[in-house]
Amino acid sequence: MTDAHAPYLTEVDGHLCLERVDLHGLADAVGTPAYVYSKAHITDAIEALNEAFAGVDFNLHYAVKANSNLAILKLCSDLGTGFDIVSGGELSRVIAAGGDPGTVIFSGVGKTVEEIDFALKVGIECFNVESEAELHRIAERAEVSGQVAPISIRVNPNVDAQTHPYISTGLKQNKFGVQPDQALAMYQAAAENPQLNIVGIDCHIGSQITEIEPLLDAFTNMLSLVDELASMGIELKHIDLGGGMGIVYQDETPLDLQTYGASVRQILGGRGQTIILEPGRSIVANAGVLLTRIEYLKQAAEPDAPNFAVVDAAMNDLIRPALYQAWHDVRVVNPDRTLPPDQWDIVGPVCESGDFIAKDRTLGLDASSVLAVLSAGAYGMVQASNYNSRGRACEIMVDGETFELIRRRETITDQLRLETGLDASRNAL
Ligand SMILES: *Cc1c(COP(=O)(O)O)cnc(C)c1O
Repeated sequence: MTDAHAPYLTEVDGHLCLERVDLHGLADAVGTPAYVYSKAHITDAIEALNEAFAGVDFNLHYAVKANSNLAILKLCSDLGTGFDIVSGGELSRVIAAGGDPGTVIFSGVGKTVEEIDFALKVGIECFNVESEAELHRIAERAEVSGQVAPISIRVNPNVDAQTHPYISTGLKQNKFGVQPDQALAMYQAAAENPQLNIVGIDCHIGSQITEIEPLLDAFTNMLSLVDELASMGIELKHIDLGGGMGIVYQDETPLDLQTYGASVRQILGGRGQTIILEPGRSIVANAGVLLTRIEYLKQAAEPDAPNFAVVDAAMNDLIRPALYQAWHDVRVVNPDRTLPPDQWDIVGPVCESGDFIAKDRTLGLDASSVLAVLSAGAYGMVQASNYNSRGRACEIMVDGETFELIRRRETITDQLRLETGLDASRNAL
């Protein structure tokens, strides 16, 4: 059995496995909740993108914010990707993982002076500039440190990515990027500033995009700017189309990468720019599952009320259902799956009615069931919090029949480390 959610989720003699590691045995070995990732899935996802864009000068930059575990960054770096980051913290992670800062693109609307100085010092590939004020600040900081800052301007191509409003970023009303007219003026100013080196143009219109048209419309809109800039004597080295490629959570038809690659090649025509993509979700989402164990089963109070399966994972571990009404498939991983099915809401222990993992699922459960929440590799662990003073889950990388702990479970000592109570020395300004 394989499916589009997770080609590396397989059933071996009744045991649900990620690659060849039995998930029920793994839950016993490492405890729950636990995030588990398939190395082969990540490797294949990167190779598939490189193949789809063969024939254009192409460069992949993994979007660190989707899953920033050092082991995943190391794997991406070993596979030859660069990185797209949105904070100084993410830059530190790339460096700690052994990644090359010279392959880092720095996106985000709120870069601080400290973050810009850090990025200049380690020599990143490019700043994706999101406003005129930021362009001034980068030029100023480059002057202070006697450097030339490589820049690209994030254009808002004003296309509707047709995705959830919280993950749609390419419309006029979004906070990201600048309008095309303003971009032209900024490029002109940058060209006259010896502290700035113009290297590219970028956009990112949203996430979980399954239609190709908005992506190609954004590309076409950017190309008219590229051509206009060329006529002004400003030649760009790269065109960065952002990330946002959609995946299968439920029954979506994911973006066809071959078609995307072929269309980009055709629309680019004879132009010489390198094409950059910044995918996050499409690399890691379906590489990961969240393992969780039933704590209690609570039968419905009335015929119309839901049955609740209270599990040991909660919204602090995986906030996507609460935050974006996201749908994650849920599978029972126990080898014996002959229990009679019933309708269940899978909920966590956190004191919020919004604390649910999945609603209205038909599953055969008993008090010993262990569940795998699928498609949890992206925007899962990175958004985990300590709400309700819950320690964050451990993370595991699976490779064939072996697994490795890539982040240990957080303890209460970890959580209390930064706090002092009221016994610490007092200060006055
Ligand atoms: C979030 C983000 C990405 C990655 O988006 P995915 O949907 O995970 O591929 C890429 N670029 C920028 C600028 C982003 O903010």
